[in-house]
Amino acid sequence: MSLRTIVTLPDPVLRRKARAVTKFDKDLHTLIDDMVETMRDAPGVGLAAPQIGLAERLIVVEYYEHEMDEESEENEDMPKKVWAIINPEIVKASEEKVMGVEGCLSLPGLVGEVERHTEVLVKGLNRHGKPMKVKAKGWLARIFQHEIDHLNGILFPDLATRVWQPQQEVEQEQEV
Ligand code: ZN
Repeated sequence: MSLRTIVTLPDPVLRRKARAVTKFDKDLHTLIDDMVETMRDAPGVGLAAPQIGLAERLIVVEYYEHEMDEESEENEDMPKKVWAIINPEIVKASEEKVMGVEGCLSLPGLVGEVERHTEVLVKGLNRHGKPMKVKAKGWLARIFQHEIDHLNGILFPDLATRVWQPQQEVEQEQEV
């Protein structure tokens, strides 16, 4: 495994519509493993292939599987799950939306207030080319929407009601 370089604006790959992945071979598995390692190193909670310079429809996400309730403090013992989804698509989205502040590893030093669906159903393929789906709520749903946007050349400031440069370092949870 090796770390890949995260590209930032104005790299044009971030604005391209990524192409579907059609080969589920060893190279793809290496790429997925590298993306997970790169996401953790950043650190971030999601990464899309265009963010490492590849216009391919592939995302990785690492986050808590179940939504935390407002009171419970985030703690290190809570299990996180890794998803690698190829050719992901949002096939269902809640009518309900929620505002949240998010950042992007490809837009360092910037955050924005973005309205996202509170729940989504994501369908795609796993690393072996088998169909898979994920039902996501809350922040996990936000991460999936942000990453899938990357595959269509959409960056969060395109959707944000407000974008600014925070004084303090951005929380890891916001970096996708
Ligand atoms: Zn991003």
